[in-house]
Amino acid sequence: MGSLSNGHSIDIKFTKLFINGQFVDSVSGKTFETIDPRTGDVIASVAEATKEDVDAAVQAARHAFDSGPWPRMSGSERGRILMKWADLIDQHAEEIAALDTMDAGKLFQYCKMEVPSVANMLRYYAGAADKIHGEVLKTAGKFHAYTLLEPIGVVGHIIPWNFPSTLFFTKVSPSLAAGCTMVVKPAEQTPLSALFYAHLAKLAGIPDGVLNVVPGFGKIAGSAVCSHMDIDKISFTGSTQTGREVMQAAAKSNLKQVSLELGGKSPIIIFDDADVDTASQLALIGILFNKGEVCVAGSRVFVQEGIYDEFEKKLVEKAKAWVVGDPFDPNVQQGPQVDKRQFEKILSYIEHGKREGATLLTGGKAIGNKGYYIEPTVFTNVKEDMLIANDEIFGPVMTLSKFKTMEEAIERANNTTYGLAAGIVTKNIDIANTVSRSMRAGMIWINCYFIFECDVPFGGYKASGFGKDFGMEALHKYLQVKSVVTPI
Ligand code: NAD
Repeated sequence: MGSLSNGHSIDIKFTKLFINGQFVDSVSGKTFETIDPRTGDVIASVAEATKEDVDAAVQAARHAFDSGPWPRMSGSERGRILMKWADLIDQHAEEIAALDTMDAGKLFQYCKMEVPSVANMLRYYAGAADKIHGEVLKTAGKFHAYTLLEPIGVVGHIIPWNFPSTLFFTKVSPSLAAGCTMVVKPAEQTPLSALFYAHLAKLAGIPDGVLNVVPGFGKIAGSAVCSHMDIDKISFTGSTQTGREVMQAAAKSNLKQVSLELGGKSPIIIFDDADVDTASQLALIGILFNKGEVCVAGSRVFVQEGIYDEFEKKLVEKAKAWVVGDPFDPNVQQGPQVDKRQFEKILSYIEHGKREGATLLTGGKAIGNKGYYIEPTVFTNVKEDMLIANDEIFGPVMTLSKFKTMEEAIERANNTTYGLAAGIVTKNIDIANTVSRSMRAGMIWINCYFIFECDVPFGGYKASGFGKDFGMEALHKYLQVKSVVTPI
């Protein structure tokens, strides 16, 4: 039972592993606690998946793939069931939103929009389920050839905690539409909404064994998924460091396919012709949305010299006015960081920045003595070899720099091991086009930021990973091509 700021409580209904269509305890009997970041208090004890539990989940998914109805039913029938699931999600949107807010400290106002948006993502892929087809190929005249698109098999999905609902559906929607079966390991910080979604999946008619959810820790349950010999593909979202381990485990086991959506240190480049008020607001939201716990957070902001001083002044004013507090309060703009570890990590980066000699323009401290709240923080005079300019902090911490020319901005913005996203603010279409083409990043936003649509592919360059989420690219990630050739 969790409590809301208005005194009401939320009944936490689902805390067990979901394997083969049933909620079950861990074979080991182990549980772990999920924590409310507003207070540090325990929300619920959740069954902890061990290697044996992961194995049971994989066997269920294997059986459902090898002999169950899901991969064999028509695409339109799969689509119909997914549509029903989406409707059930809409009916429970507020309850699920509250779970994500309690688990992750995300704004309730935002989660109430996020949950219906994942239902729409599900509908998008439900509509694609009956449009999966190969092609007939040109032959030299003696052979007839065609391709079949087949579901890849059993998929292991591993997701982080920053968008528990969106990332769950980013993974399961296209893979279910493709006809795959799966084991999902949610992040240990945020298992609750995934279990609720599993309950609704069963009500919608997704056959037992198709979708299994195994909350637990990365080093135990996550690693068991990655090294399992009966999983055909891993779709991983998380840090670059863990991404490397996932790939190694996949290579050392059955050489399963891997797609990786990893970290970022994304730049936003603001040119002299920008409206300073609008651009400073865009940059502020670029770093503070979801308390900076966003893979595409615009953590490095570059502003052209002509407007730099005015921009800095406006940005700092806005950052000081930003409201941090209880994420259930509709007037609050930023909730607590997800957990103690993340909170301490962010504060230690801030201390590092100060020690390295960067100038702290605003913020830099924890707020209150309960929960994991941190002030919106802006550094300037940041040298490019400083830790805060290079590492993904994953918190409300921005580095602000001045540049002279477009060429200089491109070079400095690209000077990162990551390549997830980049923002450009200018009215000049030539500059916008040149910078877009020059950035080594998978997602470019011109005069906007954080615009995600389920039909727009999203994924990284360089150490931000490979393989796209969203769009038809994501559907094809879960399909494999079989070529059939026969004499005429
Ligand atoms: P993380 O890598 O620590 O954990 C992510 C998931 O992997 C969790 O479920 C965790 O339990 C699991 N895991 C941890 N170690 C594992 C192992 N050895 N084997 C298998 N699984 C393991 O990342 P995090 O701190 O939870 O999330 C933040 C990171 O995720 C940031 O780097 C962020 O940029 C990234 N992220 C990327 C995207 C994207 O789409 N590119 C989206 C959201 C978050």
